[in-house]
Amino acid sequence: MTKITGTKNAAPVVILDRDGTIIADKNYLARAEQVELLPNAAAGLRQMQRAGCRLLVATNQSGIGRGYFTVADYEKTAARLAAMLADEGVRLDGVYYCPHSPADGCACRKPRAGLVERAAREWRFAWRDCVVIGDKPSDIELGKNIGARLSIIIGAEKGAADAAVADLVEAAAVIES
Ligand SMILES: [Mg+2]
Ligand SMILES: [Zn+2]
Repeated sequence: MTKITGTKNAAPVVILDRDGTIIADKNYLARAEQVELLPNAAAGLRQMQRAGCRLLVATNQSGIGRGYFTVADYEKTAARLAAMLADEGVRLDGVYYCPHSPADGCACRKPRAGLVERAAREWRFAWRDCVVIGDKPSDIELGKNIGARLSIIIGAEKGAADAAVADLVEAAAVIES
């Protein structure tokens, strides 16, 4: 087992929401052709990646549990996003999704920590070394739940977040500061 030491000053692991954070929120996005990168999203991710951050996506996809689209549909949207980012020189290290509806009461629907728990097992990082970025108060709540180093809200009121930014380039600057 790898011992995690000296992580305090290392580039953080960035836990990113997907819809409304990296791509336009289409309200239960079901088709690959609806995937549309937000302005400065690729540039911001590239900057974080160059700074040594690991990029992990954690996304609630309750459209699956609600029966609006299938896992296969979701996987097509994920593949399209990966391809679009690859064209921009960005590689996501991992993508984790919750397929459940709120009624399922699962442990992985954000703001619950299940997705981060899974990612942390796979990538061996401490929760406190994460930066959480999302567009909803529930993303910020996730950050609080895991004791994240920093919680950043994008395109919305600051609320309980540590910082409010317009896009991922601004988020990258906050992480580097
Ligand atoms: Mg979102
Ligand atoms: Zn879930």
